[in-house]
Amino acid sequence: MAQSPADARMVDGFGRNISYLRLSVTDRCDMRCVYCMAEDMQFLPKRDVLSLEELDRLASLFIRMGVKRLRLTGGEPLVRKGVLGLFQSLSRHLQSGQLQDLTLTTNGAQLARFAEPLARLGVRRVNVSLDSLDPERFARITRGAKISDVLDGLAAAREAGLKVKINTVALAQDNFEALPDMVRWAHDQGFDLTLIEAMPMGEIDEDRSDQFVDLSKVRQSLAAVWTLNPLAETTGGPARYWQVAETGGKLGFITPLSHTFCEACNRIRVTCTGTLHTCLGQEDAVDLRAPLRASADDAPVAEAIRGALALKPKGHDFQISRRPSVARHMSTTGG
Ligand code: SAM
Ligand code: SF4
Repeated sequence: MAQSPADARMVDGFGRNISYLRLSVTDRCDMRCVYCMAEDMQFLPKRDVLSLEELDRLASLFIRMGVKRLRLTGGEPLVRKGVLGLFQSLSRHLQSGQLQDLTLTTNGAQLARFAEPLARLGVRRVNVSLDSLDPERFARITRGAKISDVLDGLAAAREAGLKVKINTVALAQDNFEALPDMVRWAHDQGFDLTLIEAMPMGEIDEDRSDQFVDLSKVRQSLAAVWTLNPLAETTGGPARYWQVAETGGKLGFITPLSHTFCEACNRIRVTCTGTLHTCLGQEDAVDLRAPLRASADDAPVAEAIRGALALKPKGHDFQISRRPSVARHMSTTGG
Protein backbone atom coordinates (compact mmCIF):
# COMPACT_ATOMS: atom_id res chain seq x y z
CA MET A 1 0.00 0.00 0.00
CA ALA A 2 1.26 3.48 -0.84
CA GLN A 3 2.54 5.44 2.16
CA SER A 4 0.80 8.68 2.99
CA PRO A 5 3.14 11.51 4.02
CA ALA A 6 2.13 11.15 7.64
CA ASP A 7 2.87 7.41 7.78
CA ALA A 8 6.46 7.51 8.86
CA ARG A 9 9.31 9.56 10.15
CA MET A 10 11.91 10.53 7.59
CA VAL A 11 14.84 8.16 7.89
CA ASP A 12 17.75 8.18 5.47
CA GLY A 13 19.71 5.28 4.02
CA PHE A 14 22.09 5.31 7.01
CA GLY A 15 19.25 5.19 9.57
CA ARG A 16 19.53 8.87 10.51
CA ASN A 17 16.23 10.44 11.53
CA ILE A 18 15.65 13.68 9.62
CA SER A 19 13.78 16.19 11.73
CA TYR A 20 15.30 19.57 10.87
CA LEU A 21 14.65 21.58 7.70
CA ARG A 22 16.38 24.76 6.61
CA LEU A 23 14.26 26.44 3.99
CA SER A 24 15.65 29.29 1.94
CA VAL A 25 12.96 31.81 1.06
CA THR A 26 15.04 33.98 -1.29
CA ASP A 27 18.49 34.05 -2.89
CA ARG A 28 18.54 37.86 -2.63
CA CYS A 29 20.29 39.83 0.05
CA ASP A 30 20.87 43.40 1.18
CA MET A 31 24.52 42.59 1.93
CA ARG A 32 27.32 41.09 -0.17
CA CYS A 33 29.58 39.37 2.37
CA VAL A 34 32.94 38.73 0.75
CA TYR A 35 33.11 35.04 1.70
CA CYS A 36 29.51 34.36 0.66
CA MET A 37 28.83 36.19 -2.60
CA ALA A 38 30.59 37.73 -5.56
CA GLU A 39 30.07 41.51 -5.80
CA ASP A 40 28.03 41.23 -8.99
CA MET A 41 25.89 38.22 -7.99
CA GLN A 42 23.25 37.34 -10.55
CA PHE A 43 19.97 36.66 -8.77
CA LEU A 44 17.27 34.29 -9.93
CA PRO A 45 14.32 35.40 -12.04
CA LYS A 46 11.17 35.63 -9.89
CA ARG A 47 9.35 32.86 -11.77
CA ASP A 48 12.00 30.36 -10.65
CA VAL A 49 11.49 31.17 -6.98
CA LEU A 50 8.74 29.42 -5.04
CA SER A 51 5.79 31.63 -4.16
CA LEU A 52 4.92 32.15 -0.50
CA GLU A 53 2.04 29.70 -0.93
CA GLU A 54 4.38 27.10 -2.45
CA LEU A 55 6.89 27.60 0.38
CA ASP A 56 4.10 27.11 2.90
CA ARG A 57 2.82 23.99 1.15
CA LEU A 58 6.27 22.44 0.96
CA ALA A 59 7.20 23.28 4.56
CA SER A 60 3.85 21.93 5.75
CA LEU A 61 4.42 18.66 3.87
CA PHE A 62 7.84 18.29 5.49
CA ILE A 63 6.26 18.91 8.88
CA ARG A 64 3.68 16.18 8.21
CA MET A 65 6.57 13.91 7.26
CA GLY A 66 8.39 14.45 10.55
CA VAL A 67 10.21 17.81 10.53
CA LYS A 68 10.11 19.24 14.07
CA ARG A 69 12.41 22.22 13.65
CA LEU A 70 12.13 24.67 10.79
CA ARG A 71 14.58 27.49 10.09
CA LEU A 72 13.88 30.05 7.39
CA THR A 73 17.00 31.41 5.77
CA GLY A 74 18.28 32.81 2.49
CA GLY A 75 19.90 34.94 1.03
CA GLU A 76 18.43 37.27 3.58
CA PRO A 77 15.00 35.96 4.66
CA LEU A 78 13.84 39.37 5.87
CA VAL A 79 14.15 40.92 2.37
CA ARG A 80 11.57 38.48 0.99
CA LYS A 81 8.38 40.44 0.44
CA GLY A 82 5.57 39.03 2.57
CA VAL A 83 7.86 36.92 4.76
CA LEU A 84 5.88 37.82 7.89
CA GLY A 85 2.77 36.36 6.26
CA LEU A 86 4.72 33.13 5.73
CA PHE A 87 5.79 33.06 9.39
CA GLN A 88 2.19 33.73 10.33
CA SER A 89 0.80 30.84 8.31
CA LEU A 90 3.58 28.47 9.45
CA SER A 91 2.93 29.37 13.08
CA ARG A 92 -0.24 27.22 12.91
CA HIS A 93 2.08 24.19 13.13
CA LEU A 94 3.53 25.56 16.37
CA GLN A 95 0.03 25.95 17.73
CA SER A 96 -0.92 22.40 16.72
CA GLY A 97 2.26 21.08 18.39
CA GLN A 98 3.47 19.38 15.20
CA LEU A 99 6.36 21.82 14.95
CA GLN A 100 8.57 22.46 17.98
CA ASP A 101 10.66 25.33 16.74
CA LEU A 102 10.20 27.99 14.04
CA THR A 103 13.17 30.25 13.64
CA LEU A 104 15.40 32.14 11.21
CA THR A 105 18.96 33.05 10.37
CA THR A 106 19.35 36.70 9.48
CA ASN A 107 22.02 39.31 8.93
CA GLY A 108 20.03 41.45 11.38
CA ALA A 109 19.90 44.59 9.22
CA GLN A 110 16.07 44.56 9.13
CA LEU A 111 15.52 42.98 12.52
CA ALA A 112 14.61 46.25 14.23
CA ARG A 113 11.32 46.19 12.25
CA PHE A 114 10.71 42.45 12.45
CA ALA A 115 11.75 41.32 15.93
CA GLU A 116 8.54 42.16 17.74
CA PRO A 117 6.11 40.74 15.12
CA LEU A 118 8.22 37.59 14.83
CA ALA A 119 8.13 37.09 18.59
CA ARG A 120 4.36 37.58 18.52
CA LEU A 121 4.08 34.80 15.91
CA GLY A 122 5.86 32.28 18.13
CA VAL A 123 9.50 32.70 17.08
CA ARG A 124 11.54 32.22 20.26
CA ARG A 125 15.10 32.58 19.06
CA VAL A 126 17.05 33.96 16.18
CA ASN A 127 20.54 33.48 14.74
CA VAL A 128 22.16 36.75 13.74
CA SER A 129 25.32 36.76 11.63
CA LEU A 130 27.92 39.31 12.65
CA ASP A 131 31.58 39.04 11.74
CA SER A 132 33.03 42.24 13.18
CA LEU A 133 32.19 44.90 15.75
CA ASP A 134 34.37 47.45 14.02
CA PRO A 135 32.17 49.61 11.73
CA GLU A 136 34.79 49.89 8.97
CA ARG A 137 35.69 46.22 9.04
CA PHE A 138 32.02 45.32 9.06
CA ALA A 139 31.43 47.54 6.03
CA ARG A 140 34.36 45.94 4.22
CA ILE A 141 33.23 42.37 4.94
CA THR A 142 29.62 43.06 3.94
CA ARG A 143 30.60 45.41 1.08
CA GLY A 144 28.86 48.47 2.44
CA ALA A 145 26.39 47.56 5.20
CA LYS A 146 26.03 49.64 8.37
CA ILE A 147 26.76 47.93 11.65
CA SER A 148 24.39 50.30 13.47
CA ASP A 149 21.46 48.66 11.66
CA VAL A 150 22.47 45.25 13.00
CA LEU A 151 23.04 46.60 16.53
CA ASP A 152 19.57 48.20 16.42
CA GLY A 153 18.19 44.85 15.27
CA LEU A 154 19.88 43.05 18.15
CA ALA A 155 18.48 45.57 20.64
CA ALA A 156 14.99 45.04 19.21
CA ALA A 157 15.41 41.26 19.44
CA ARG A 158 16.35 41.54 23.09
CA GLU A 159 13.44 43.91 23.73
CA ALA A 160 11.07 41.41 22.09
CA GLY A 161 12.37 38.62 24.31
CA LEU A 162 14.04 36.66 21.50
CA LYS A 163 17.00 34.50 22.45
CA VAL A 164 19.92 35.49 20.23
CA LYS A 165 22.81 33.46 18.91
CA ILE A 166 25.51 35.32 17.04
CA ASN A 167 27.18 33.50 14.12
CA THR A 168 30.66 34.67 13.26
CA VAL A 169 32.65 33.33 10.32
CA ALA A 170 36.33 33.29 11.30
CA LEU A 171 38.35 35.23 8.72
CA ALA A 172 42.15 35.28 8.85
CA GLN A 173 42.48 38.83 7.53
CA ASP A 174 39.32 40.44 8.87
CA ASN A 175 38.54 39.26 12.38
CA PHE A 176 40.98 36.61 13.58
CA GLU A 177 42.65 38.88 16.15
CA ALA A 178 39.30 40.22 17.37
CA LEU A 179 37.61 36.84 18.00
CA PRO A 180 38.21 36.84 21.80
CA ASP A 181 36.68 40.36 22.00
CA MET A 182 33.71 39.17 19.93
CA VAL A 183 33.11 36.30 22.37
CA ARG A 184 33.40 38.60 25.40
CA TRP A 185 31.06 41.18 23.84
CA ALA A 186 28.42 38.59 22.89
CA HIS A 187 28.44 36.98 26.33
CA ASP A 188 28.26 40.41 28.00
CA GLN A 189 25.09 41.03 25.97
CA GLY A 190 23.64 37.68 27.03
CA PHE A 191 24.03 36.22 23.51
CA ASP A 192 25.52 32.83 22.68
CA LEU A 193 28.14 32.90 19.94
CA THR A 194 29.14 30.31 17.38
CA LEU A 195 32.33 30.54 15.34
CA ILE A 196 32.15 29.10 11.84
CA GLU A 197 34.91 27.94 9.52
CA ALA A 198 34.61 29.45 6.04
CA MET A 199 33.43 26.75 3.67
CA PRO A 200 34.44 26.56 0.02
CA MET A 201 31.02 27.12 -1.55
CA GLY A 202 30.53 29.00 -4.80
CA GLU A 203 32.93 31.25 -6.69
CA ILE A 204 33.66 34.52 -4.88
CA ASP A 205 36.06 37.32 -5.79
CA GLU A 206 38.71 36.37 -3.20
CA ASP A 207 40.89 33.31 -2.66
CA ARG A 208 39.35 31.51 0.31
CA SER A 209 42.56 29.89 1.44
CA ASP A 210 43.84 33.41 2.31
CA GLN A 211 40.97 33.83 4.77
CA PHE A 212 40.65 30.28 6.12
CA VAL A 213 41.12 29.86 9.87
CA ASP A 214 41.37 26.42 11.46
CA LEU A 215 39.03 26.75 14.42
CA SER A 216 40.60 23.92 16.36
CA LYS A 217 43.60 26.26 16.77
CA VAL A 218 41.33 29.13 17.84
CA ARG A 219 39.78 26.88 20.45
CA GLN A 220 43.19 25.95 21.78
CA SER A 221 44.24 29.59 22.09
CA LEU A 222 40.95 30.57 23.79
CA ALA A 223 41.35 27.63 26.15
CA ALA A 224 44.73 29.09 27.19
CA VAL A 225 42.94 32.23 28.47
CA TRP A 226 39.54 30.91 29.54
CA THR A 227 38.13 27.76 31.10
CA LEU A 228 36.14 26.00 28.40
CA ASN A 229 33.83 23.30 29.74
CA PRO A 230 32.49 21.01 27.02
CA LEU A 231 28.70 20.78 26.85
CA ALA A 232 27.05 17.50 25.92
CA GLU A 233 24.28 19.15 23.93
CA THR A 234 24.10 18.86 20.18
CA THR A 235 21.58 20.09 17.64
CA GLY A 236 22.33 17.19 15.30
CA GLY A 237 24.43 19.57 13.27
CA PRO A 238 28.06 20.49 12.96
CA ALA A 239 28.29 22.73 16.04
CA ARG A 240 30.00 21.63 19.23
CA TYR A 241 29.42 23.78 22.33
CA TRP A 242 31.48 24.87 25.30
CA GLN A 243 30.56 26.90 28.36
CA VAL A 244 33.03 29.69 29.07
CA ALA A 245 33.34 29.63 32.87
CA GLU A 246 34.59 33.24 33.14
CA THR A 247 31.74 34.78 31.09
CA GLY A 248 29.00 32.22 31.79
CA GLY A 249 28.18 32.24 28.07
CA LYS A 250 27.97 29.48 25.49
CA LEU A 251 30.51 29.21 22.70
CA GLY A 252 30.02 27.00 19.66
CA PHE A 253 32.45 25.90 16.97
CA ILE A 254 31.40 24.78 13.50
CA THR A 255 34.40 23.05 12.03
CA PRO A 256 33.44 21.25 8.84
CA LEU A 257 36.93 21.52 7.37
CA SER A 258 38.94 20.40 10.37
CA HIS A 259 36.42 17.82 11.65
CA THR A 260 33.50 15.91 10.29
CA PHE A 261 30.19 15.85 12.04
CA CYS A 262 28.05 13.79 9.75
CA GLU A 263 27.28 10.65 11.81
CA ALA A 264 24.42 12.33 13.66
CA CYS A 265 23.23 14.63 10.87
CA ASN A 266 19.48 15.25 11.19
CA ARG A 267 19.04 18.00 8.61
CA ILE A 268 18.15 18.73 5.06
CA ARG A 269 18.00 21.97 3.10
CA VAL A 270 15.64 23.27 0.46
CA THR A 271 16.51 26.22 -1.75
CA CYS A 272 14.07 28.96 -2.69
CA THR A 273 13.61 27.23 -6.05
CA GLY A 274 12.46 24.04 -4.32
CA THR A 275 15.68 22.07 -4.78
CA LEU A 276 16.29 19.61 -1.96
CA HIS A 277 19.92 19.23 -0.88
CA THR A 278 20.37 16.37 1.53
CA CYS A 279 23.97 17.43 2.29
CA LEU A 280 25.44 20.94 2.53
CA GLY A 281 28.82 19.69 1.37
CA GLN A 282 27.81 17.61 -1.65
CA GLU A 283 26.29 18.37 -5.03
CA ASP A 284 23.31 15.98 -4.57
CA ALA A 285 20.08 17.72 -5.50
CA VAL A 286 16.48 16.73 -6.14
CA ASP A 287 13.95 19.05 -7.72
CA LEU A 288 10.71 19.33 -5.73
CA ARG A 289 9.36 22.32 -7.64
CA ALA A 290 8.31 20.33 -10.71
CA PRO A 291 6.12 17.84 -8.81
CA LEU A 292 4.89 20.68 -6.58
CA ARG A 293 3.76 22.73 -9.56
CA ALA A 294 2.51 19.76 -11.60
CA SER A 295 -0.34 18.87 -9.25
CA ALA A 296 -2.15 19.81 -6.07
CA ASP A 297 -1.48 16.29 -4.82
CA ASP A 298 1.40 16.13 -2.31
CA ALA A 299 2.05 12.40 -2.84
CA PRO A 300 4.50 12.79 -5.77
CA VAL A 301 6.41 15.45 -3.81
CA ALA A 302 6.60 13.15 -0.77
CA GLU A 303 7.82 10.37 -3.02
CA ALA A 304 10.58 12.59 -4.43
CA ILE A 305 11.59 13.53 -0.86
CA ARG A 306 11.79 9.90 0.25
CA GLY A 307 13.80 9.00 -2.87
CA ALA A 308 16.29 11.78 -2.08
CA LEU A 309 16.59 10.72 1.57
CA ALA A 310 17.41 7.16 0.61
CA LEU A 311 20.45 8.60 -1.20
CA LYS A 312 21.52 11.17 1.42
CA PRO A 313 25.33 11.02 1.39
CA LYS A 314 27.16 9.59 4.38
CA GLY A 315 29.18 12.78 4.77
CA HIS A 316 30.46 15.96 3.20
CA ASP A 317 33.53 16.29 1.04
CA PHE A 318 34.80 19.81 1.73
CA GLN A 319 38.40 20.67 0.92
CA ILE A 320 39.55 24.27 1.20
CA SER A 321 42.19 23.73 -1.50
CA ARG A 322 39.52 22.91 -4.09
CA ARG A 323 37.99 26.12 -5.45
CA PRO A 324 35.07 25.81 -4.92
CA SER A 325 34.44 22.37 -3.34
CA VAL A 326 30.71 22.86 -3.89
CA ALA A 327 29.66 24.98 -6.87
CA ARG A 328 26.59 26.63 -5.33
CA HIS A 329 26.93 29.58 -2.97
CA MET A 330 25.94 29.35 0.70
CA SER A 331 23.27 31.96 -0.10
CA THR A 332 21.66 29.37 -2.43
CA THR A 333 21.40 26.63 0.18
CA GLY A 334 20.97 28.99 3.08
CA GLY A 335 23.74 27.94 5.47
N1 SAM B 1 21.64 36.26 5.26
C1 SAM B 1 21.50 35.50 6.45
C2 SAM B 1 22.72 35.63 7.33
O1 SAM B 1 23.75 36.10 6.86
O2 SAM B 1 22.63 35.21 8.48
C3 SAM B 1 21.17 34.04 6.23
C4 SAM B 1 21.87 33.32 5.10
S1 SAM B 1 23.63 33.16 5.30
C5 SAM B 1 24.04 32.28 3.82
C6 SAM B 1 23.72 31.95 6.59
C7 SAM B 1 25.06 31.82 7.27
O3 SAM B 1 25.99 31.30 6.36
C8 SAM B 1 25.64 33.13 7.78
O4 SAM B 1 25.98 32.97 9.15
C9 SAM B 1 26.89 33.32 6.96
O5 SAM B 1 27.90 33.96 7.69
C10 SAM B 1 27.25 31.90 6.61
N2 SAM B 1 28.06 31.75 5.41
C11 SAM B 1 27.87 32.26 4.18
N3 SAM B 1 28.81 31.83 3.31
C12 SAM B 1 29.62 31.01 4.02
C13 SAM B 1 30.77 30.23 3.70
N4 SAM B 1 31.27 30.19 2.48
N5 SAM B 1 31.33 29.50 4.70
C14 SAM B 1 30.82 29.51 5.96
N6 SAM B 1 29.75 30.21 6.32
C15 SAM B 1 29.14 30.96 5.36
FE1 SF4 C 1 23.81 37.96 2.58
FE2 SF4 C 1 23.97 36.29 4.61
FE3 SF4 C 1 25.44 35.87 2.40
FE4 SF4 C 1 26.05 37.91 3.97
S1 SF4 C 1 26.13 35.74 4.53
S2 SF4 C 1 25.84 37.98 1.73
S3 SF4 C 1 24.11 38.52 4.71
S4 SF4 C 1 23.26 35.81 2.54
